[in-house]
Amino acid sequence: MSTPETPRTPASEAEPNAPVLAVVGRPNVGKSTLVNRIIGRREAVVEDKPGVTRDRVSYDAVWNGRAFTVVDTGGWDPDARGLAKSIAAQAEIAVQVADAVLFVVDAGVGITDSDEAVVRILRKSGKPVVLAANKVDDQRTEAEAYGLWHLGLGEPIPVSALHGRGSGDLLDACLAALPETPPESFTELGGPRRIAIVGRPNVGKSSLLNQLAQEDRVVVDDASGTTVDPVDELIQLGGREWRFIDTAGIRKRVKTASGHEYYASLRTETAIERAEVAVLVIDGSQSVSEQDMRIIQTIRESGRALVIAFNKWDLVDDERRYYLDREIERDLVQVQWAPRINVTARTGWHIDRLVPALERALEGWETRIGTGQLNSFLGRLVAEHPHPVRSGKQPKVLFGTQAATAPPTFVLFTSGKLDAGYERFIERRLREEFGFVGTPISLEVRPRE
Ligand code: GDP
Ligand code: GDP
Repeated sequence: MSTPETPRTPASEAEPNAPVLAVVGRPNVGKSTLVNRIIGRREAVVEDKPGVTRDRVSYDAVWNGRAFTVVDTGGWDPDARGLAKSIAAQAEIAVQVADAVLFVVDAGVGITDSDEAVVRILRKSGKPVVLAANKVDDQRTEAEAYGLWHLGLGEPIPVSALHGRGSGDLLDACLAALPETPPESFTELGGPRRIAIVGRPNVGKSSLLNQLAQEDRVVVDDASGTTVDPVDELIQLGGREWRFIDTAGIRKRVKTASGHEYYASLRTETAIERAEVAVLVIDGSQSVSEQDMRIIQTIRESGRALVIAFNKWDLVDDERRYYLDREIERDLVQVQWAPRINVTARTGWHIDRLVPALERALEGWETRIGTGQLNSFLGRLVAEHPHPVRSGKQPKVLFGTQAATAPPTFVLFTSGKLDAGYERFIERRLREEFGFVGTPISLEVRPRE
């Protein structure tokens, strides 16, 4: 008999990509007692009455040197409408957010009608399931556990959450069910990073490109139109290679009188789609225009990272600078998060600031926040700034998970629809807490009817 020794890792030091184990089961089967045991009895609160709402649902755990996150679905039950429905909802959420599910049954009670729906959801999801037959406090009751084989969820593991009996074996089974490495990793896409230089005509895109190519000290044959131009260009900057998308389109300007604008914006859009990060070049000596803002909109919608380069800085005097600052506040408020650099493409002044800005933006774009860390942040946020009451109801954020990176995409499970203002508030606080420099953030809210 082994008792798990699991020193809890503080959220900030937790493995950000730790796999997630969700614990599902009816009230009173012993989920929180089990979670306590898994995380080392340090945090989860066990109350002797069913359906107690807990503040936290997600905890960091370590077993045999492997870090993982435990999510206790028992806490998502503030306004259950029918037991069967509420645990089915738990199971739905669990299979969406977890890498593996720990389904807890009280071996003495056995399977009930409300468990049947859960079993169907778990089997359909294809997610690995570990079946715990809890409250097997001694050898005598062990036989009861084996009655659970017929659920078709594999071998029931007898355990006593209360006394620790069998909990080591249970944890071994959970670890075996969790993926060795996180399911998706965007950090190594392979190949050079892909950049699109975009902006309206005459802001200095090709001048910037020429400066960058010059930094590379690779001789660029600029006799445009003589040979078949490669569409993209590989340029060595700051010790690595970058792929600049559709440089042919920048170098060889399409100047047909009609449809010029249409083709230009089509090219811009396709370049952004193919890129990971966009450099929006704005002529700093002129007012930020409608067209600049349309390109920003395209970048936000495509979810790409963004760096803004104010070019022609040699023409920016104190007065222009004053107005530019106002325009940034007014017109670029939607992309406040984008790193901004001031450059003079014509002379190469401050061109060396581009690569660090690109690297910061790509880093923000690929940031992943661990489920444990995210939920302790959400717990604090909701406690300090609850959603305003709307027609007698107060929607609550129950649980969140980062579903994707590049760009960071968060899914929030809530007890009701959130105000747009509250969603913006959450995004703002996410940025304050975790950075996300240079990247749009996507928030998906899933209210539970
Ligand atoms: P939850 O509602 O599923 O989170 O269940 P709890 O963890 O709150 O446990 C419900 C009740 O069952 C509590 O009184 C626990 O002490 C008790 N309990 C939990 N695990 C065991 C166990 O392994 N054996 C026994 N005998 N009681 C248990
Ligand atoms: P593109 O249409 O965006 O590719 O812009 P170009 O690179 O062709 O530049 C348009 C015009 O702006 C050219 O006359 C450039 O010489 C000029 N230009 C580009 N960068 C700068 C700069 O940093 N300062 C100044 N004063 N002029 C610039």
